[in-house]
Amino acid sequence: MRKQTRMEQEQIMIGNPAPDYEVIVIGAGVAGIYQIKRLADLGIKATVLDAAPDLGGTWYWNRYPGARFDSESYTYGYSFSKELLGEWHWKERFSGQPENLRYLNHVADKFDLRKHMQFNCKVEAAHFDETDSLWRLRTEDGRELTGRFLIMATGLLSIPTLPRLEGMDSFKGRSFHTFYWPHEPVELAGKKVAVIGTGATGIQVIAEIADKVGDLTVFQRRPNWSAPLNNGPISEAEMAELRARYDEIFATCARTPGGFEHEPDRRGFWQVSREERVALWDRLYEHPGFAIWLRNFREIFMDDAANAEFSAYIADRIRRRVKDPAIAEKLIPRDHGFGVQRVPMETRYFEVYNRDNARLVDISETPLVRVTESGLRTTERDYDFDIIVYATGFDAITGAFDHIDIQGVGGEKLRDKWKDGPSTYLGMFIHGFPNLLMPAGPQSGSASTNYPRGIETGVNWCTDFLEHVWERGYMRAEATAEAEQRWTDHVIQMYSVMLMRKAKSWFTGYNSNIPGHEHGRTRYFVYNGGAPKYVSRISDVAAKGYEGIVLTSGSTPPATPSVTGIAGVAR
Ligand code: NAP
Repeated sequence: MRKQTRMEQEQIMIGNPAPDYEVIVIGAGVAGIYQIKRLADLGIKATVLDAAPDLGGTWYWNRYPGARFDSESYTYGYSFSKELLGEWHWKERFSGQPENLRYLNHVADKFDLRKHMQFNCKVEAAHFDETDSLWRLRTEDGRELTGRFLIMATGLLSIPTLPRLEGMDSFKGRSFHTFYWPHEPVELAGKKVAVIGTGATGIQVIAEIADKVGDLTVFQRRPNWSAPLNNGPISEAEMAELRARYDEIFATCARTPGGFEHEPDRRGFWQVSREERVALWDRLYEHPGFAIWLRNFREIFMDDAANAEFSAYIADRIRRRVKDPAIAEKLIPRDHGFGVQRVPMETRYFEVYNRDNARLVDISETPLVRVTESGLRTTERDYDFDIIVYATGFDAITGAFDHIDIQGVGGEKLRDKWKDGPSTYLGMFIHGFPNLLMPAGPQSGSASTNYPRGIETGVNWCTDFLEHVWERGYMRAEATAEAEQRWTDHVIQMYSVMLMRKAKSWFTGYNSNIPGHEHGRTRYFVYNGGAPKYVSRISDVAAKGYEGIVLTSGSTPPATPSVTGIAGVAR
């Protein structure tokens, strides 16, 4: 039988009602799977709830053709189990969605995690009960569950958004957001297909389907900078070599800002000659993955002139690949430089526009007016389609939080608190929302780094924190307002040196399809200090006894929190 935690023993002694679960995790994606693994290993009574019919999160949903990692597969997989690392063969350097989903299922089955998961379980509301210091959840099907701690593992990009176009329901053909690409095969042969959107998703799906459809029309509002993914198979022999190097690979990921094997070129941009710069870029253009972005000079992220020179280099690459010079010019971004938005990686994307069956419609010139019964209307003309694909992005980072009625102390709604953007402590706590943890939350290190590397850091930290809480019998954990303000200021301050602060991208909270998320109303979503700095910050907080978090064993916090807010003092 499972040993009772000290907190459970104390609850029984003092007569506090025991919640249904010690921990409820929302989300059975990459973060939720690892989180429940850690909790199960500790023997904690915990469950994972997910709205989807099965596990996998982003890799369950995004089944559009071309969906694949642009992290090297062997840096994306979990690092926590040598046995898992030893047995899994990544077949491609940048693995595709079907295999990624197989991998996550394999992990869940191997560690017998499914029994802790509840699917088709959409959480509608989560209210903090101040009297009993626990979270009360209500699901869409009317169930009520309580949990002492609530862990939000809801993903960064899990709420798809559609344009607000008139007539969207009137279209007689098939239409779907890429996130909801049907599970059964979609007949593309001979079909007239429209794709709206040219972000990372659009660029993947366009390149993958161009030679499979009858006729392809891409509706582009703003082009994105993009460069070759340079994918390839991983043979048995290569995989054996990679397995032997796993310790080294993860050590490299841990010391690089992005959490990848890619390390920035630390020579000064202006210290080397133009010829040397171009020689580096020529090599990086052929290099797999994000090398072109992350092995580059650091100045391209911060220095307008350096960024402009590099962007001009990539623009020339695009011109060399697209036969029609007018189309090439349309595919070159003018409103932002390379790498200040998340760089989509591509596989023969630009060559799509050399095909006879593909065309680009620049909707910055001739905007979409409406959806018709038979297709799309721009200010210039009508187009007929069999299928319309919306690759139009997500209500990023905070969207999944906004979709649940989360209420904290005094009934404060999280969506009101975060109306103008998130404020957090370490990207993991929210003042006013006790006992709620976010292993990969807004302003954490996860969004701006190789996601699973960030997730493992966040999950490990949160789990260590919970162990600390349980060992000492605390019932309530809340970040102080001051700690939250300090962290949020720190996150905002780091944006100030980055060119990306000006970008119209989800990194700055832009989404044209959501009122209030317009460009210019920057929301500070990601931690730009890089993985090593983030880890050092959060480790320091833990070493100082979880500085900035008030821990109490009763249901209500002390009237005057301890001076330092250090754990233990307030007990
Ligand atoms: P996105 O980067 O936000 O791109 C959305 C695209 O749709 C943009 O081109 C946008 O144009 C266009 N769009 C949105 N609303 C529109 C409207 N009403 N009318 C016309 N065009 C509209 O979204 P995404 O491509 O799905 O990518 C989001 C993120 O998901 C990526 O940055 C990446 O982090 C992640 N992702 C990862 C992978 C991977 O790991 N391999 C693959 C795909 C996505 P504007 O720019 O003009 O707004």
